[in-house]
Amino acid sequence: MTPLLLALSFLRLEIATGRVEQQGFAAEAVPIGSLAKPFVALAYARAHEFQYPRVKCKRCWRPNGHGELGIEGAIAQSCNTYFDTLRAAVPASQLAAVAREFGLASLERAEPQGLVRAYVELLRRQAEPGVAPVLNGMRHAAVDGTARELGLEALAKTGTAACSHKPKAPGDGFALVLYPRESPRTAVLVRLHGRPGSHAAREARNLIQ
Ligand SMILES: [Zn+2]
Repeated sequence: MTPLLLALSFLRLEIATGRVEQQGFAAEAVPIGSLAKPFVALAYARAHEFQYPRVKCKRCWRPNGHGELGIEGAIAQSCNTYFDTLRAAVPASQLAAVAREFGLASLERAEPQGLVRAYVELLRRQAEPGVAPVLNGMRHAAVDGTARELGLEALAKTGTAACSHKPKAPGDGFALVLYPRESPRTAVLVRLHGRPGSHAAREARNLIQ
């Protein structure tokens, strides 16, 4: 195997049956980084009458920031400033409650399979208040956001999280994809050791098709 293949972990879940196929992930909680953002959003929405704010991002992982964003743009661009603002406006107990409700140990660390199931649950709740804008942001992510290298019409969220391998990389890239965009049938989680989330999105394409 090439080093790239060794560094790739994936989990693919058939949404209708819950059947899972995976490689490279252990059943232990790993840092989930930006993949927590949809659940942070929902916790915020519940505490604020389901009104998402607009936030000006001047500095972020993107050097000059993202400018002014609403929830859809913030999910699509994975804006840290936006979600730091939301996180700061929700008591930790309410963040933890949303994590539990979606089957996650916390919004910092989760088991890979639990994380994928949490996104499937989010999709099932698309008619609940506050959820649709988050899913729309994930649609945008795959078109012109952080997951555009996926190159497929899908719902997607990328992230970079602290590396849980030895030897350690500066970070591991994650991509969570629900495919196809209309009535998704497959959920895929990809982790790429030492690469950004955008690259993980590119790898996800091969696991979907
Ligand atoms: Zn930003």
